[in-house]
Amino acid sequence: MKIETKFDLGQKVFLIKYDSKPTRKPCDKCGGVVEYETPTGVKVRCDKCRYAEYQGHPRGTMGSFLDSEWYIVGTGTIGRVSATRYDYNGGDPDALGMNYQPQKPDSDKEEYMLWETGIGSGTLHSPDKMFATEEDARKECALRNTTEVKEG
Ligand SMILES: [Zn+2]
Repeated sequence: MKIETKFDLGQKVFLIKYDSKPTRKPCDKCGGVVEYETPTGVKVRCDKCRYAEYQGHPRGTMGSFLDSEWYIVGTGTIGRVSATRYDYNGGDPDALGMNYQPQKPDSDKEEYMLWETGIGSGTLHSPDKMFATEEDARKECALRNTTEVKEG
């Protein structure tokens, strides 16, 4: 038996996620100006966004979160593939034994583990959130965002 899977070992994939996406917005204290003069002529450097700039963020910005949406969260390399396949046509429904409801089998399933998130004791990734190219991942995000596919 040869099992075909959506992805192969060692393949690079793009992962998508439905979540509140971290982003940057202009500092709400200084409005992104960073350095300004008070009415009495004293030059002041905004203390709210100074640390963010020190951490390497764009000058005059602060962290923010957008409303939840689908977006590309990163890439990974497949290090483990597990596939479950059912025989939808064969099997005797009257046969004795521990058949898992052969008349109504569960749906075929694939799960992946990535080197970046751990092989063995890592995170299981579902193929419906994995794509072979960045373009495919971006298109799927756009489609899911416009059709408002949500995830619990
Ligand atoms: Zn500021």
